Amino acid sequence: MEKLRGVGFPAEVLEGLLAYARHMHPREILLLLRGKISEGILWIKEFLIPPFAVHSEGFSSFSPWFLPLDPSIAGTVHSHPSGSLKPSVEDLNHFYGRVMVIVAHPYHSESDTAAYSKDGRRLPVITK
Ligand SMILES: [Zn+2]
Repeated sequence: MEKLRGVGFPAEVLEGLLAYARHMHPREILLLLRGKISEGILWIKEFLIPPFAVHSEGFSSFSPWFLPLDPSIAGTVHSHPSGSLKPSVEDLNHFYGRVMVIVAHPYHSESDTAAYSKDGRRLPVITK
């Protein structure tokens, strides 16, 4: 599998994501990401609400067992109302797909956004 060098967001996709996180704050959001890898960059095309998502304050979870095996799902994004961009141990234990994106309060720009690969490596977030 091609090694990822970064995660790319078209500006309007990132803005939509941050606006949704702002709207849901202080609740945590969890969405699935769909995208395409081009020259090592995973370009996010859209985000989807996972089936059977559970949303509550400070915690969001879903069971990947209920998800169809869908190779177009590239990973997940969830919010950290605490403002931290670091994944928790629980986050790393529930890794789904190839990337985990975290958006942190106050959800203003790509500087409130972090991406991680499955091995916990931080990947650059690119917007265009
Ligand atoms: Zn988290």
